[in-house]
Amino acid sequence: MELFGSSGVRGVANEDLTPEFLIRVATAVGTVWGAEGAAVARDTRTTGRTFADAAASGLASAGIDVHRLGIVPTPGVQAYAAREGIPGLVITASHNPPQYNGMKVIGEDGIELPVADLERIESVLRTERFARTQWNETGEQRRVEGARRAYVEELLDSVDRARIAEANPTVAIDPGHGAGSLTSPDFFRRLGCRVLTLNAQPDGTFPGRDPEPVPENLGELARLVRTSDADLGIAHDGDADRAIFFDERGEYVEGDATLAALAAAELDAGDTVVSAVTASRRLSEAAAAANATLALTPVGSTNIVTAIRDLASEGASVPIAGEGNGGIFFPDYRLARDGAYIGARFLELVTERPTSAVLGAFDGYHNVRRAIEYGEGGEREAIMAAIEERATRADAELDTTDGYRLDYDDGWVLARPSGTEPLVRVYAEARERDRAEELAAGMKRTLESAGVQV
Ligand code: MG
Repeated sequence: MELFGSSGVRGVANEDLTPEFLIRVATAVGTVWGAEGAAVARDTRTTGRTFADAAASGLASAGIDVHRLGIVPTPGVQAYAAREGIPGLVITASHNPPQYNGMKVIGEDGIELPVADLERIESVLRTERFARTQWNETGEQRRVEGARRAYVEELLDSVDRARIAEANPTVAIDPGHGAGSLTSPDFFRRLGCRVLTLNAQPDGTFPGRDPEPVPENLGELARLVRTSDADLGIAHDGDADRAIFFDERGEYVEGDATLAALAAAELDAGDTVVSAVTASRRLSEAAAAANATLALTPVGSTNIVTAIRDLASEGASVPIAGEGNGGIFFPDYRLARDGAYIGARFLELVTERPTSAVLGAFDGYHNVRRAIEYGEGGEREAIMAAIEERATRADAELDTTDGYRLDYDDGWVLARPSGTEPLVRVYAEARERDRAEELAAGMKRTLESAGVQV
């Protein structure tokens, strides 16, 4: 899939990604769908309305009636699609910087489109076999009010409202000027929390911070939590399908620790938790303690969704899944990542104990990440051959789901080629920082031994 990659269509607006291109993509999507109606929504980016207009035009030209939802978080669009039984397009670049925009494609079941469907869309686009309708069958467009309100109502019905309201926690929320600005503060207030907000005005210039919820961008939130009586800090990305947390002391909570804590609370004996090959030992320990199974997939949310569907069709119970980047699935709620829902489920955990105490059991690991560039020609093959050679010799458990992951008694290291750049990504984790560094360095030496200039 050249066009959709692992995260939908993305690019710098009006440079890599133009409105005319989006019309063509949306016409191809409409050709494959052949639906009567479809939703179009967007996040807060400055180019959002123009790009949503383009997407709506493409769908209408394929004969589809367009429901214009306005600014709605991606999970809110997924809720609308599932409720109405129609597919949808979301104009968003998720966590990418302000100048980017893009498109996510949602099926009529409210779930991200599977790879096979995306490939069909790409094929229509490539061969230009657009099914444009006659002049008198062009789709209508209508504005739909209340999609955000209905989404928040659904969220309120899906969590333990009484438990949270009784605890009356104080929550500091930083939606980063994204689509969650219009839903998350309202949701947490109505859950019975005292809400402090930061960067909660929808603004496509993102004046307070960049959309990516990484610690470098969240210093203000850390300060707000530290200098207030907040029990928890919550940050979203631009389309609010992810949640990142700060404990009551204003300390950043690693996504791996969040996932492990939620999994420990959620898993029963015999359950399966799905994660990517980058999964932390924290998660495998939480699964083992619950007598549950950890199933690993290649990196990327599409792969996780596919694995959950496959396991569910085989009768497995998968109550939780996700990656350590703040994107967590609760499939019994919806097969979608939902930043507000993740926030509320985490809040349930911290109603009785401070956030830092809940997470204490999942502390004490060190993670090291390296990106090693390689040149043109045969270097990629040489690198992968060297890694394979090392992997087969190592006194470790080997997993080849995506690259090579070596699990030792006291840590693990993974080397996997990037799908989009001339890079090999190396991940290592151990209880001792020195050991994590040593594991990553060992992998780097392997690359050097393959004659690669790194
Ligand atoms: Mg996102």
